Amino acid sequence: MNRSDVLIIGAGPTGLVLALWLSKLGVRVRIIDKTSAPGTTSRALAVQARTLELYRQLDLADTIVRRGHQVAAANFWVNGKPVAQLPLKRIGEGLTPYAFVEIFPQDEHERLLLERLEDYGVSVERNTALDSFEETGDTLTAHLRLPDGRQEVCQACYLAGCDGARSVVRKALDTDFPGGTYQQIFYVADITASGPALNGELHLDLDQADFLAVFPLAGEGRARLIGTVRDERAERAETLQFADVSSRAIEHLKVHIEDVHWFSTYRVHHRVAEHFRNGRAFLLGDAAHVHSPAGGQGMNTGIGDAINLAWKLAAVLSGGAEPKLLDTYETERIAFARRLVSTTDKVFSFVTAQGRMADLLRMRVAPFLLPKMAGFEASREFLFRTVSQVTLNYRGMPLSQW
Ligand SMILES: Cc1cc2nc3c(=O)[nH]c(=O)nc-3n(C[C@H](O)[C@H](O)[C@H](O)COP(=O)(O)OP(=O)(O)OC[C@H]3O[C@@H](n4cnc5c(N)ncnc54)[C@H](O)[C@@H]3O)c2cc1C
Repeated sequence: MNRSDVLIIGAGPTGLVLALWLSKLGVRVRIIDKTSAPGTTSRALAVQARTLELYRQLDLADTIVRRGHQVAAANFWVNGKPVAQLPLKRIGEGLTPYAFVEIFPQDEHERLLLERLEDYGVSVERNTALDSFEETGDTLTAHLRLPDGRQEVCQACYLAGCDGARSVVRKALDTDFPGGTYQQIFYVADITASGPALNGELHLDLDQADFLAVFPLAGEGRARLIGTVRDERAERAETLQFADVSSRAIEHLKVHIEDVHWFSTYRVHHRVAEHFRNGRAFLLGDAAHVHSPAGGQGMNTGIGDAINLAWKLAAVLSGGAEPKLLDTYETERIAFARRLVSTTDKVFSFVTAQGRMADLLRMRVAPFLLPKMAGFEASREFLFRTVSQVTLNYRGMPLSQW
């Protein structure tokens, strides 16, 4: 029977980073994905400084910095005009070698991770799905559905559920996924366009309670629109077209659209699984936590989960640490995920609040305060520390007290 040290379910960014890190540490991994090919859409854009710091150990950081795009400033628009600017170049100076805001689309990111994994002689087994698994004694037995429809029964010491928000692993563990669902529908569009908002910087429209931002992508005139709608259009999310949502960007941010390469809509949940571990099975990434994409934290947090768990699994499998080390994965990462989901929920609810007072804050107070705050090093530093995850630490947690 095929037996691996760690069976990884899902080859999104979380599963790929886990496979890479474990392979680097000499652990025998098997990684499967039910899809026939890697994703081809840009999805998560921001690679946070903490992720780049960790990627240095995999020799990935320099490549991402070279191939990606650094955002020089965030601009805030009211009544069709930019009214405030927050400079982002070197915003985290002194805190990290990656003191900037880095954009590197998820499809390119996944391709890079796959190439590096191949260097370790590991390939993703495609068209292969996890059906079920059970734990008996010191072994985990998994039932896989192979590309030709046959079932394979295999064994592993540990199983990592990196299988996304609709995780089969989480359901098999019967772990609750408490939280809620935003009433708004999110849309994303990768476009080629022209206009003042296509200058390689970030642009946010403060005119309406719904969120609207233009994120720069590498390449002349390339950008990502991210927005929300909650009016009657949200009722027909499945049939929503780019034309239904694009007029605001065209009118408010003066975006002249030339081409739409990808348009998608999706509902966003804010949820954290009740447990990240049950016996020999673990939950990581979107399988364990989901939240608003507005702060660019989702994918980065999944990568952080993978790196936190990888070295612990390697240490236990090699006999260098006792299995109780693995308990610290849930303690450390669930605490961070709960804090993150609560913070992104508060910020997102504030930014998209409706009513006269909220309009006043967004359109009058924020444009006045933002440039003043940008002038203070302390407030710039606070913002960078919060978003980049560089100050995340586990001091005070059990592992630091052993
Ligand atoms: C349209 C869209 C736009 C987004 N935009 C942003 C953004 O701007 N910013 C941001 O931070 N995040 C964004 N996200 C979220 C981001 O893409 C996710 O946070 C990230 O992909 C999570 O990575 P993951 O590896 O944990 O899960 P996923 O990327 O979901 O990967 C899970 C993998 O598991 C596989 N799988 C599932 N079940 C099984 C099974 N039973 N057997 C085998 N394989 C299985 C799936 O095929 C998939 O490849 C967006 C997501 C979408 C869909």
